[in-house]
Amino acid sequence: MAALLDLTGRSAVVTGAGSGIGAAIAARLAEAGASVVLIDKDADAVARGADATGGRAVVVDLADEDAVRDLCAPGGPVAGADVLVNNAGLQHVAPLEDFPPERFALILRVMLQVPFELVRAALPSMYERGWGRVLNVSSVHGLRASPHKSAYVAAKHGLEGLSKVIALEGGGRGVTSNTLCPGYVRTPLVEGQIAAQAAAHGIPEGEVVAKVMLTNSAVKRLIEPAEVAELAAYLCTDGASYANGSSFVLDGGWTAR
Ligand code: NAD
Repeated sequence: MAALLDLTGRSAVVTGAGSGIGAAIAARLAEAGASVVLIDKDADAVARGADATGGRAVVVDLADEDAVRDLCAPGGPVAGADVLVNNAGLQHVAPLEDFPPERFALILRVMLQVPFELVRAALPSMYERGWGRVLNVSSVHGLRASPHKSAYVAAKHGLEGLSKVIALEGGGRGVTSNTLCPGYVRTPLVEGQIAAQAAAHGIPEGEVVAKVMLTNSAVKRLIEPAEVAELAAYLCTDGASYANGSSFVLDGGWTAR
């Protein structure tokens, strides 16, 4: 197994690498031998991640169009990457009639428009080398809807579609694209939802994990970021070259219903 997960000589860019799933993926790719560029808007968090992995921290707010343009420039970290992990994300929980349009636009930008722009910048050099891996961190919410998450569900469903188009255009040129679809992962993003979910569903905060988040999962626990990172690392190997255009579901059985 160790040889299968050897990424020596590969360069990887991971967005949202300062926390949660992105931090775990950056760490796992580095452990497998890749050189990693960690992108996040949280300067302290991404600096800690870079220290821990021997990688390079790049502080960028992906909501900032000019900053993303610079990130995508020729000679920049994205243009030369072998592996691109589109992971940065955020959540907003509110019924549609109260959902702030500017939050909807921000979520669509960071979680769909930016992945498109980064992929667009990364593909030419991947095509030149005849090798590339695009991983899009989607969610069960890329495949299923939940109330009060209109922007998130829309962005993740869009990311699923984008990933499949990348797979079709890149598959014959050595570039694969897949999504990872976890259920609820133990990260700050989920912890931050507990109060909002309690209010939205009219239940105490202590009941949110069991009564809202784990209702549909047969495995009655949150998944850990490292478990998502293990699958991510596998999908970046040579051995995963036939895995393309797929959605890899890690949901404890949620979507088996
Ligand atoms: P997290 O909040 O722990 O980490 C997200 C990171 O993204 C943070 O470091 C944050 O600073 C960064 N980020 C957010 N907006 C940014 C911006 N504008 N510019 C730059 N960086 C930005 O969240 P997480 O749970 O690790 O989520 C990571 C990804 O996994 C997201 O795409 C999320 O939708 C997806 N996901 C999470 C879960 C879950 O249950 N936690 C489940 C399925 C999918």
